[in-house]
Amino acid sequence: MSARLNRDDFDKYMVPCFSPAPFIPVKASGSRVWDQQGKEYVDMAGGIAVNALGHANPHLGEALKAQIDRLWHIGNGYTNEPVLELAKTLVERTFADKVFFCNSGAEANEAALKLARKYASDRHGKGKSEIIAFQNAFHGRTLFTVTVGGQPKYSADYAPLPADIIHLPYNDLKAVSEQISERTCAIIVEPIIGEGGVRPADPAFLQGLRQLCDRYQATLIFDEVQTGAGRTGSLYAYQQYGVEPDTLTSAKGLGGGFPIGAMLTRNAWADAFQPGTHGTTFGGNPLAATVANSVLAQLDNALLQGVAERHRWIAARLGALGEKYGVFSDIRGAGLLIGAELSSTWRGKAKTLTNLAAEEGVIALIAGPDVLRFAPALNIPFGDLEEAFVRLERAIARLTR
Ligand SMILES: *Cc1c(COP(=O)(O)O)cnc(C)c1O
Repeated sequence: MSARLNRDDFDKYMVPCFSPAPFIPVKASGSRVWDQQGKEYVDMAGGIAVNALGHANPHLGEALKAQIDRLWHIGNGYTNEPVLELAKTLVERTFADKVFFCNSGAEANEAALKLARKYASDRHGKGKSEIIAFQNAFHGRTLFTVTVGGQPKYSADYAPLPADIIHLPYNDLKAVSEQISERTCAIIVEPIIGEGGVRPADPAFLQGLRQLCDRYQATLIFDEVQTGAGRTGSLYAYQQYGVEPDTLTSAKGLGGGFPIGAMLTRNAWADAFQPGTHGTTFGGNPLAATVANSVLAQLDNALLQGVAERHRWIAARLGALGEKYGVFSDIRGAGLLIGAELSSTWRGKAKTLTNLAAEEGVIALIAGPDVLRFAPALNIPFGDLEEAFVRLERAIARLTR
């Protein structure tokens, strides 16, 4: 590949709100990635839980190519066949009655939060507007969603912020029961906190939130942008917890690498959005919907069972590495969303470790400064996992040497 463009061009031409790796990926297939110099990496990050079926998945590619010759965009004065099929499939495979499509996780959460406010105001008038969210949660980067997210460092500089948003400690049902009232409009929660450290909810916590929302007529929103689309071994994580939300948001893996977001909800809530109350130009476009249809068609029981198998394999290998090198104090998560918390000696070194890992030829993620995070393709071959762990061990050996 021509080195006409290089990493310095990022600093020269792009707004510096990211700090990308020194190498530039140019090609990928399955769970392997190649950079400009032809160096090969095993991908244990999956584009941050997005490339759910691996890179250049032939089924997704064929579906997209066929649709490219048919219809790209028509605008929301018309509906289209791929989006109708996608909505039908999501309704049939979940708690939901209706779906709204957009282009990202933030937009899906923005829609969910706006819907909850409007639903409450339609039914109960003004004053029922308080949103309960959780510390360390991540819900996106629009002004509303970043304010609802539980990391003030991401929102503080954008004040004045949307009002009536409360942050409580995660997995602390008592704190929620003390805060919730007739004024509460919604609770929004990630079934497993992703960006904020890969922290699974206690089943009793989600059950308790469900009961409190029922008692106070508040909307229960599950943000499954990261945990959805098969990531935890069921189509959505709530299906393993056995607790149904009123609204659920999905994005990331749903498009397998093509941008799409979705907000799933029940009829009573859906009715609060009438023509003109909310919208989007690109949401539900035929290209994105076509790819998502192909993703969902591949997320069958066999594939989901494979996710559980891979989870056990990775957790065992991480456990063994943790013992051998004394690097991990906790290994947690579900399916192929796995966090390994660094032990006290190596606290703060997650980024250093992923940099070393990339040098050794394996791409991994962090979830905060102390947690190594893995979110590979749901179909990553065991041979690739084996190679990833050989390389990861070399990185850990270098860190701890
Ligand atoms: C990534 C993420 C978002 C934001 O999604 P974008 O597509 O980046 O807007 C929201 N919620 C959770 C839980 C996420 O992991």
